[in-house]
Amino acid sequence: MRKRLIVSAASALSLFLAVPASASDFQPGAAGAGDSYYPTYGNGGYRVSHYDIRLKYQPATDELEGTTTILATATQDLSRFNLDFALNVSEVRVNGRPAAFTTSGEQELEVTPARPLAKGSQATVVVRYKGVPSTVKKYGFTAWLRTPDGAVAAGEPESAWWWFPSNDHPSDKATFDVSVLVPDGNQVISNGTLTGTSSQAGWTRYSWRETKPQATYLATIAVGKFDVTTDTTPSGLPVYNAYSKDLGDNADAARASVERTGELVDWLSGYFGDYPFSSVGGYVPNVPTGFALETQTRVFYSPRQFARGANTSVVVHELAHQWYGDSVSLSRWSDIWLNEGFARYSQFLWSEHENEGTAQELADYVYASHPAGDPFWTVKPGDPGPDDQFSGAVYDRGAVAVQALRNAVGDEKFFRILKGWPTERRYGNATIPEFQAYAEKVSGTDLGDLFRTWLFTAAKPATGPVPAAAAASAAASLAPGAGTADGQLPAEPKSWKKIQETNSLHDAGH
Ligand SMILES: [Zn+2]
Repeated sequence: MRKRLIVSAASALSLFLAVPASASDFQPGAAGAGDSYYPTYGNGGYRVSHYDIRLKYQPATDELEGTTTILATATQDLSRFNLDFALNVSEVRVNGRPAAFTTSGEQELEVTPARPLAKGSQATVVVRYKGVPSTVKKYGFTAWLRTPDGAVAAGEPESAWWWFPSNDHPSDKATFDVSVLVPDGNQVISNGTLTGTSSQAGWTRYSWRETKPQATYLATIAVGKFDVTTDTTPSGLPVYNAYSKDLGDNADAARASVERTGELVDWLSGYFGDYPFSSVGGYVPNVPTGFALETQTRVFYSPRQFARGANTSVVVHELAHQWYGDSVSLSRWSDIWLNEGFARYSQFLWSEHENEGTAQELADYVYASHPAGDPFWTVKPGDPGPDDQFSGAVYDRGAVAVQALRNAVGDEKFFRILKGWPTERRYGNATIPEFQAYAEKVSGTDLGDLFRTWLFTAAKPATGPVPAAAAASAAASLAPGAGTADGQLPAEPKSWKKIQETNSLHDAGH
């Protein structure tokens, strides 16, 4: 009995200590995650572990109603915190109690809980909302794309604001449950695994689940009428693909590309290691946009990607992101090369595999086809700036940088890095300096000059991505990669046009 009392007293004491001396010890969380490219994106003061997104959507009117439950942990003593969101909110609760809320800026939802949140404490945040997302413009656009029979949310970096409140920055990844009620006859596509459907009174609920950490911009949703194909890859991974029923002339080329997903993801795992997720696939809604996006486990493709026939190269690109971008995610948007340089390089590897031009030939071609005065070389792939984040140079020069790395360390070490990095950093976040340190550790080579030259210098490198042996050769002018003089353009590799057709990839429409 005595002992029991002591324990109680100790508990009471620790409880007492958790209460602040005064409310002024608790500060508001930052309105941004500290990203230099997008200062207001994401927020400070907490981290999210899970989003439960429960929606009702009427395709005829584009009316969306939702309740999102967020599981968060305070990382400081919080008097208030922000979410990023664009629709009208009717109620917010924090740990069951009604919370005060207001909006500020373009997409900030400021939440003041009834009781402040102590550092390290868990919070369950419930947000109720509704709106017509296609009519809600932020920074002049909406990432909610209407289709003839429904809608799609896909965009980078912005897409979450129009369908769920979030800490919208890739540095804070979480698991997701997405459950959507739609009128019977419509379907819902999202990330991960379809765990069930149920129908009642003319409405059908689709429930999707992604159990691995996912960045908010990689969450996607589509409502419409789709032809669905399901299968397993040769290695046993479930595949779920969906095609709008009204793709017209692009329907067959879309299928001839996206139905290769299982084969291509298995092929890529030979380079990148085991596929990190428990489902894979793609969907092609009837949107008027031109881009594709590596939405986690379920790639978004615009039909225009297939307007000139099948394109397996774009499928390879988006699937490569499942390792480089989705499983290993950016800590800050300025490091976009870690995503796009490697996704574009995977297209070079696919070209090599298909005997349509080696990666070296493609790198030489990129190098030679942009003369020194070309603005192409003013973009630094390692820090392109927000306006050039998705410019062609980030992809093409970025992939040449990867080839330069390959030449500097040799094939054996290069392929060890290519596979080891997404394995070691699986489900996490990373920066370019961390990648460089990893590549230096594996190769035993100082790569400072190479990274500076190819990623962080706003000028054309003096020599192309020359293999080390060739660089040492006196006959450098005959070596691969040495065709550097302007006007000596090597023959266009056979794969080049298909690779370039994927270049509207991340044009998010704004
Ligand atoms: Zn990409």
